[in-house]
Amino acid sequence: MGIIETARTWVYSASVRGTFQRLHRASGLFLQAVLFVTPWLAVGEHPAVQIDVPARRLYAFGAIFTPTDTVLLVLMGLFAAFFLFLFTAVYGRLWCGFACPQTVVLEEWVRPVEAYIEGERGVRMARDKGRWTLDKAGRKLLKFTFFGVLSGGFAMTFVSWFAGATVLWTGRGGVGYYGLVAFLSVLSFLDLAWFREQFCNYLCPYARLQGVLCDDHSLVVAYDAARGEPRSGVGACIDCNKCVAVCPQGIDIRNGFQLECITCARCVDACQIVMDKRGQVNLVGYTTQSGRRDVVRPRTVAYTALLGVVGIAFVAALATHDEIDGNVRRSPGSTYTLDADGWVRNTYLVRVTSHDEEPHTWSVKVDGLPGGAQVIVAQLTLAGEETATVPLVVRVPAAELVARSLPVDVVLTSGDDTLSLAATFLSEGG
Ligand code: SF4
Ligand code: SF4
Repeated sequence: MGIIETARTWVYSASVRGTFQRLHRASGLFLQAVLFVTPWLAVGEHPAVQIDVPARRLYAFGAIFTPTDTVLLVLMGLFAAFFLFLFTAVYGRLWCGFACPQTVVLEEWVRPVEAYIEGERGVRMARDKGRWTLDKAGRKLLKFTFFGVLSGGFAMTFVSWFAGATVLWTGRGGVGYYGLVAFLSVLSFLDLAWFREQFCNYLCPYARLQGVLCDDHSLVVAYDAARGEPRSGVGACIDCNKCVAVCPQGIDIRNGFQLECITCARCVDACQIVMDKRGQVNLVGYTTQSGRRDVVRPRTVAYTALLGVVGIAFVAALATHDEIDGNVRRSPGSTYTLDADGWVRNTYLVRVTSHDEEPHTWSVKVDGLPGGAQVIVAQLTLAGEETATVPLVVRVPAAELVARSLPVDVVLTSGDDTLSLAATFLSEGG
C-alpha cells in the first residue's frame, strides 16, 4: 500500500454507534475543552499556559520558565518522551485512536458533518460516482465551507497557545501570528478535506515509531479468526463487511494485524451490533498479538526506570532552582586598566534574570578582594520576571595585588536570597 505504488482509494467510512464511540465522544469533548479553554485561562496576571516565543517565556500554571531554565525544560521534554514510550509499549496506538488531534477532529466534526450534508456511506459513494449536478455541487460547497471555517477556528486556537487568546482574537496578534494562522488553516483544510488517513500512514512521525515501541504484548485491535473463519456459514463471521465499511483507515481487520490500524475500535462496535443480533460474542476486540497481556516486561521496566530517574532529576533541579540567576562577564574588549592614581580597574557586566513575580532590590558586593578595594555598581532593582544588565567596576590599589589573576565572587543579596557568581580580577600582579 503506498501513494507511489497504487492510486489512492477514497475511504468512505460509515457511521457507527456503540460503547467505544461513546468513549470517543467523551474523550473528544474533554480534549477539545482543554484545547479551546486553556488559552483563555489566567493564573494571577499571566496566562495559565502560553509559549511566548518573542519574550522567550513559557507560562505553565503559575510557573514561568525562561531560557535560563533550559535544564528544567529539557527534563520536562524527556519525561514526556519516556512517558509516551511507556504508554505506547503498553497501550499500542490508543493515542492515535482516541486522543490524536486529527482523529478527534475527524471523529467529532468532519465525519458527522459530512454524513449530515452528503448522506451516509452508500449515498456518498453513489453521488461521487454520478455526474455533477447543482445539488452535488451545492453539498460539496457547503461541506468545504464548513471545513474551511473549522480549519480557521482550530488554527486560531492553536496559535492562541503562543500569542495569547485575548491578543489574537481581538486583532492585536501582529502580522507574523496571523500569517501563521493562515498557513495552518490551509494545511488543516487540506488534511481534513483530502489527506486524512494518509497523514497517519505516510507522514506522522509517531506512527513511524510504533514498530520500535510496540511488541507482541502491546494492545491491538484484532479479529478472532479461530471463531470467525471460514466466513459465511461455517465460522461465526457472516461476511457482512460492516467492520470494513466503518474503518477510517480503509483496512479489513480480518486480514490480520496491519500497521495502518489506529485501534479506534470502530470495527469493534460494528461487529458488536452484528454479533449481538445473533447472540454471539464479538469477533473483533482489543487484545495483543501474543494473546497475553504482560505489562511488566523488559522494555516497560526500562521506560519506567528512565521516567523515575528523569522525575527525580526534575524535582531536584526544581528544589535548587534560584529566584534569580545570571552571569558575570568582563566588559567587551577589556582586561584591566591602570588608573592615574595607581589603582587597577576591572569592568564587568552583571546580567541577572528574576524568576519571581515580585520586584526585588539586590545589593551587590564582591568577595575575595584585598582590603581597601572599591566596588562601584548601580542599584540593581528588578521588576517581576525581568532581566537586567548592570556595569560593575572594581578598583584595587596596585600595591595590594600579588597575583595577575585573583578569583573573586560577585554576591547578590535580597532578603534571604543570595546568588554568588564567580569572576576573576586581572592585573599586572605584584
Ligand atoms: S481496523 Fe478497526 S480499529 Fe483499526 S483503524 Fe480500522 S476501524 Fe479502527
Ligand atoms: S462485522 Fe463481524 S461478522 Fe461482519 S464481517 Fe466483520 S467480523 Fe465478520
